[in-house]
Order: sequence, then structure tokens, then C-alpha cells
Amino acid sequence: MRKLQKKFFGIFFFIVLCSGCATVHHDTVPGIIVDKRESAPAANTFYSLPDQGRERPFDRRTITHQVAPGETLWRLAKIYDVSPQAIIAENNLKNDQDLHIGQTLRISQAASPRDVVQLYPSSKWEYIVIHHSATDEGSSLDFNKAHLQKGWDQGVGYHFVIDNGTKTKRDGQIEATPRWIKQLDGAHCKASEMNRRAIGICLVGNFNISEPTIRQMQSLVDLVSALRQYYRIPFKNIIGHGHVEGAATDCPGKQFPWKEFLHRLIK
Ligand SMILES: [Zn+2]
Repeated sequence: MRKLQKKFFGIFFFIVLCSGCATVHHDTVPGIIVDKRESAPAANTFYSLPDQGRERPFDRRTITHQVAPGETLWRLAKIYDVSPQAIIAENNLKNDQDLHIGQTLRISQAASPRDVVQLYPSSKWEYIVIHHSATDEGSSLDFNKAHLQKGWDQGVGYHFVIDNGTKTKRDGQIEATPRWIKQLDGAHCKASEMNRRAIGICLVGNFNISEPTIRQMQSLVDLVSALRQYYRIPFKNIIGHGHVEGAATDCPGKQFPWKEFLHRLIK
């Protein structure tokens, strides 16, 4: 059944919990199938149900992939449903550490990509703060460069970036950044100490001019729902950058559809 789902619904929102669970167990939460099984390092795996907001899956094909901050062979193998060894062999890598940010890889027999998001047990996360990039284009790789230039030594300041189909990324693609993977403070909202307390999610786009895409909104709803439930974050703590006390900004933009977003979250 799992194989069948994988085959027909290639664009799963794919979440792995790192806590050690050794039971095989099925559970459901709204919009998400929870599937826990014995495999390392994936203890618990969540697959969201595909819906109209998601990109249609494609057949396996050869793709090129530019390595983004925080991406490992394990992660790329999960994203494209191939083995790490196949990526190593095809790209003449010395070992599984032989990757660098910005490197271009060729991957044969790549399945339609899935978003891979790990959830780490933590009591740190009390808020989710939503941003826009205020740029037409971008990706985690771009923001990493820009933020390193600002002198932020951990690079991209957000925990997640939701792409808009520019800079080789899929529309609605969710990129987890190293700050998320290492569970570090963000560098996205100094006011009210949100860098320490809040998960920062940035949608690529300028929402003073246009709205997020349909696929970005679907990914945002999926991601925030999963984070909210796992970290038990109350709805009132899911806010825009401009809502934070002491933050003088209109981020994530005047056109960001708050009403629709909150309605879909609560549903
Ligand atoms: Zn912002």
C-alpha cells in the first residue's frame, strides 16, 4: 500500500522524527497519515495526503540538483527516492561527506521530489513567525549567500524557505535550512526575542505586490499544521513578522491572505 501511494502520489510532504521509536504503528491526523516504522534514522514518518494544491508527480527521470544549505546525501536520497550510493557513484563523490553548497549533482531515476522535514523533540518552539522574502525570486541557497554577506555566520536566517518556482526550485517546495536541522536560533526577528523562541518560515515573493502562489499556500498550511501539532503551538502564536511586538515591518506583506490561511489551519 505504501509503495502504491508512493507510486501514484509522488509529491508527499515527508516528515521524519528523530526520536527512537521501534514500533510499527499507524495513526492519522487531519491531512496527514502518520506512519511509524523500524528504520534508522527515520523512526516516525508522516506522509501528507496529496491534494489539488500540490504539483503533479512525474515519472522517474534524470535531473540535475544544486546542493542547498543543509542538504546531505541522506536528505537527497529521501527527496528523490534513490539510494545515497547511486548519487555517490553517478557523481564520482569520494564519500558521503563529499558535498558542498552550490554543487550541481546529476541524479538518474529520480522520482518526483518530496519535501523532507524532520521534527525534533524540543520545548524551545513557542511561536511560528511567517515572512516574505520581499523579492520576486529566491531560494535557501540565495538567502544563505545574502545572510552570510551580512556576517551571520550560520547563514540563512530562517528555519524554512517555501519556494515560488524560481531559481530551479519547485513552486511550493519546502527547504529546511541548517538552522532547523541543527535546531539553532533563527536570525529572522530580533523583536520580542523571537529568534530564540520562534520557528521562522519565509515564503519567496513580494506580497506587497502579489499573493503567494496556490502551491506555496498549500505547503505553508501543511508545514505549519505539522509544526503546530507536534510542538503544541497555539493558533494565537502563529503570526506574521509585522505582528510581533516591537517589529516595525509590514512583512509578510499587505497581500498575504491571513484570513484564508488561518481558516485553512483551523479547519
Ligand atoms: Zn520578515
